Amino acid sequence: MNILVIEDEEALSEFILLELMHEGYNVTPAYDGRKGLELALEKNWDVILLDLMLPKLNGIEVCRRLKAVKDIPIIMITARDSIMDRVLGLDIGADDYIPKPFAIEELLARIRVIIRRQEKLKNLPEMTLSFKDLELNIESRLLKKGEHLIELTKKEYDLLFLFMKNINRVLTREIILENIWDYHADIETNVVDVYVMHLRGKLEANDKEGYIQTIRGMGYVMRE
Ligand code: CA
Repeated sequence: MNILVIEDEEALSEFILLELMHEGYNVTPAYDGRKGLELALEKNWDVILLDLMLPKLNGIEVCRRLKAVKDIPIIMITARDSIMDRVLGLDIGADDYIPKPFAIEELLARIRVIIRRQEKLKNLPEMTLSFKDLELNIESRLLKKGEHLIELTKKEYDLLFLFMKNINRVLTREIILENIWDYHADIETNVVDVYVMHLRGKLEANDKEGYIQTIRGMGYVMRE
């Protein structure tokens, strides 16, 4: 278990590091927000302890920037005063917080809770739909083709999801429209053709293997 401790008060940092090492965690310190963020982005951490008041970049900013790109559990260390209340009112994405001064046992307990929660999430079966070398994860909404990640817009995702849920079933333009667009929005059915073309372009960027077949006069199908 790797824990990053971003705390500028050296005595407190030292104390936390020693206690965590004693518990068997691998620990790395950072003493200002900028360095902390850099380290946080660089490696995979199981938990990050993040002080609120930090030089160079404050804890809220570190949390916000980090959470925008990576979902690493963060425990905020806050001062026991009005700032804490204000911070809690903000939606900055921290997973937990602990007010200073705290008993080390309390910090350790919170770390254990977070780690247990992460383990549970890791052990959940992944919800994916597969077709040929495509794998669509319906929780993360990520599409993998072999080892390559393909970025999809929301509509492209919805369209692919519909096809992959209906392997071997011919979908008419009307069915597709009904499922993906608001049918009453009066969209021309050729919008479907345009989106299928976009999606094909993304799926078949490197080879000619067909994923989505056109059935003349009917619609489209993903057929095995
Ligand atoms: Ca501080």
